[in-house]
Amino acid sequence: MKGFITKALHIKKQVKDAYGALRMPIYENAAYEFDSSLELKEVSLGKIPKHVYSRSSNPTVEDFELHIKNLTGAFGVLALGSGMAAIATTILTLVKAGESIITTKYLFGHTLAFFQNTLPNMGINVKFVNVLDEKEVENAFDESVRVLFLETISNPQLQVANLKKLSSIAHKHNVPLVADTTMTPFYILEAKKFGIDIEVLSSTKFISGGGTSVGGLILDHGSFDWSKFSLLEKYYKKAGHFAFLFKARKEIFQGLGATLSPNNAYLQTLGLETMVLRVDRACQNALELALWLKNSKKVQNVNYPFLEDSPFYKIAKEQFRYAGSILTFEVESIEVAYRFMDNLKIIRRATNLHDNKTLIISPYDVIYPFNSHEEKMSLEIKPNMMRVSVGIEDIEDLKEDIEQALG
Ligand SMILES: *Cc1c(COP(=O)(O)O)cnc(C)c1O
Repeated sequence: MKGFITKALHIKKQVKDAYGALRMPIYENAAYEFDSSLELKEVSLGKIPKHVYSRSSNPTVEDFELHIKNLTGAFGVLALGSGMAAIATTILTLVKAGESIITTKYLFGHTLAFFQNTLPNMGINVKFVNVLDEKEVENAFDESVRVLFLETISNPQLQVANLKKLSSIAHKHNVPLVADTTMTPFYILEAKKFGIDIEVLSSTKFISGGGTSVGGLILDHGSFDWSKFSLLEKYYKKAGHFAFLFKARKEIFQGLGATLSPNNAYLQTLGLETMVLRVDRACQNALELALWLKNSKKVQNVNYPFLEDSPFYKIAKEQFRYAGSILTFEVESIEVAYRFMDNLKIIRRATNLHDNKTLIISPYDVIYPFNSHEEKMSLEIKPNMMRVSVGIEDIEDLKEDIEQALG
């Protein structure tokens, strides 16, 4: 059993490179040609596995998928153009008009908007519950439910639900647990061990290697039996255990055109090679910064799941290697928050996560700009709260920057 970094670096090549290139080149092309019309026909019928057109598949993108599969042991992997493409493709593969999903409002802003606005317009019913309350989750299940969806650490509340318990509730109703693991990618969380059937994540974040490119991933852990799943029965007959990925790839992803570009696949494969080094460093920085901020008299309510006074300390320790690299804290007023953010010299005002650089935003203004004050407060988004995505800088420099900016 090889270690995580070794597996991230070394996979068996699908075909020998014509020039012996050690790194998979960027195949930046749309179409592929064939020696005979018969071969093209066989390939189109799916009898010979070859690339035909780069919206559907591409060698550089496939190489990225194979690296992820090798690294995670996932049953199957699909790389897409963004994290949102991964979420939309997964939901539309599993649910149709007249059916429902169960989820929480504690979600990434665009996921929440997709669930609140887009899905209902397509006739899909979205039931929002408190996923920390297992009774409430249980009671939301009925015959129409097809998916239980949540984020492993909600952003920016940093709420952590009990994955094993929720998974067993979902499985009792023959429903898969689909989780957005962007905050805790596979090195931090062994998704399958905790009952996650389908893992979706934004590879824009930790994987891309420092905010280099936008991308997304769907991982099927092979743990769910699709043979009796309403929308996939037809695909099960064709593809067996691959039913979910078969439909996701051949129908929904193709139809949405949610393709990852070869150039981004290249950057993200490169990022994947060093992900562990960056995750170790950023998460250790985040914990140290959280502990240090707690001792500061100028900030309040430091929130990070690996702080011992966090309500999620125990469950986070049980599920994750680290509590990620995102923390939040509050200052006395919105004016102080703005002055503080504007005074920072090293930490950048920008809205990505898991960049190599430390980034800061006010979620109240940036993630939910169009929601009412009442809505934001109901989601625990306060105007004087700031979210920090801790990077890989030297920790003393980050502390010094915060110290001087607090004045
Ligand atoms: C960024 C993010 C997404 C969306 O990913 P994109 O690559 O920006 O489409 C989804 N979920 C979470 C938790 C994220 O942080």
